[in-house]
Amino acid sequence: METLQTQLQQLKQMIDSHHHIVTLTGAGISTSAGINDLIHTSRETSSTLASEAVLESDPARFYQSMHQNFLDPIFNNGPTVAHRALAQLEKSGYLDAVVTTNVDYLHELAGNTKVADIWYSFNENYCLTGKHEYSIETLNQPGIPRCPVDGTLISPGPTYHHIGTSQTAIQNAIKWMDSADLVLVIGSNGYYDRVNTQVPMIQINPEPTEFDRQATLNIRATADEVLKDYVN
Ligand SMILES: [Zn+2]
Repeated sequence: METLQTQLQQLKQMIDSHHHIVTLTGAGISTSAGINDLIHTSRETSSTLASEAVLESDPARFYQSMHQNFLDPIFNNGPTVAHRALAQLEKSGYLDAVVTTNVDYLHELAGNTKVADIWYSFNENYCLTGKHEYSIETLNQPGIPRCPVDGTLISPGPTYHHIGTSQTAIQNAIKWMDSADLVLVIGSNGYYDRVNTQVPMIQINPEPTEFDRQATLNIRATADEVLKDYVN
């Protein structure tokens, strides 16, 4: 097996020779910010976050869980090295777009402008009347956020949509994937089955996944480790 150093050189050559890279990212890109993979989060925590019933019956518990699992890592730790590297790659014209199954909005906070948030994100939140939409900044406060217009609770996008998929995001993802010349799969355990299979794929993940067979290059390391050289 090639050494990591050799693989990093191969990655660099591939990135240098492609200008329509599309990346699929999953939980693995956010773990170094302190956000756990939902699979590794307790069932109680994930069902709390998935339930508007919990939000309404016990908003303090709901938002305590939100802070612990997502909001504190997002606002205190922010985008990871890998998120910032991808923003840099977009800026320098290599990366076309990001498709993500994460809801943490860290790609946009890092500076990426074309992001398909397949499962919605914390940047599209609604009050319980459904009439008013709020950005992620609304969630950046201690305690329980409420709609300034009507006083109802704020339901974070993924909760509001019952962890459903965004058709708009999926349409964008398919369009962007179709015009990709290289696919970079980072920290993803799947949950997205419309990956472009006609172009080369490079996978960055410390663990084997369902993408191993399709990837032309499997780099078994963390996203931060592999992408740190791409951050200015
Ligand atoms: Zn409202």
